[in-house]
Amino acid sequence: MTVLSSRRRFLGAAAALGAGCAAAPLWAAAPIQPGAKAALIVVDVQNCFVEGGTLPVKGGAEVVPVINALAPKFQNIVVTQDWHTPGHASFASAHSGQKAFSSIRLNYGDQVLWPDHCVQGTDDAALHKDLQLPTAQLIIRKGFNKGVDSYSAFQEADRKTVTGLAGYLKARGIDTVFVAGLATDFCVAWTALDARKAGFKAYVIEDATRAIDLNGSLAAAWKQMAAQGVRRIQSGDIAAAAG
Ligand SMILES: [Zn+2]
Repeated sequence: MTVLSSRRRFLGAAAALGAGCAAAPLWAAAPIQPGAKAALIVVDVQNCFVEGGTLPVKGGAEVVPVINALAPKFQNIVVTQDWHTPGHASFASAHSGQKAFSSIRLNYGDQVLWPDHCVQGTDDAALHKDLQLPTAQLIIRKGFNKGVDSYSAFQEADRKTVTGLAGYLKARGIDTVFVAGLATDFCVAWTALDARKAGFKAYVIEDATRAIDLNGSLAAAWKQMAAQGVRRIQSGDIAAAAG
């Protein structure tokens, strides 16, 4: 093939592509098909974070059927559990005179103080009983160092101590993560942001999350995620399992 004819073919292909784009905007593209290099990260769908738990997220249990329906579409699933020691530094009760949902400065930075929640080994810290993830391959527990919180599944709140999740995913050839669970504006957002920082493509499946929304934290989280290239999608944007 001559250079000229190959150039003509390229231009022809580009024109065809252009016509396609004009007919269908980029974002209305075909549903996303998670393949072998994608993992669903199901964040903290635990009793503590749903109604009846110690730190309930409004509508938290509503993510369970959405996540159960998503699970068969993924070859790789990772689950996280908030897993605190008694008297954990993120508990208001561990700081005299402090109230839950206030914020204090700890040696690693600002920390929102929470009611006691998700204490290791308690029923409160167990995964929601209706969560059906038989093919999940890894459970990451986080927040188990007494003096440091860990919203993110990748890195503790000191921004130094890693959980090992990035190494695990990379060792398995996974380059894209889809994040679902609780709560959108804390553990989901921090997980998605740290995924980007670690070099993964990251999606947050909005209708598979619910938020705490403390002092505008939800809008701030979406803004920050958009700025870092986290893509905001709905569960309906993901294609049914292949085959
Ligand atoms: Zn926690």
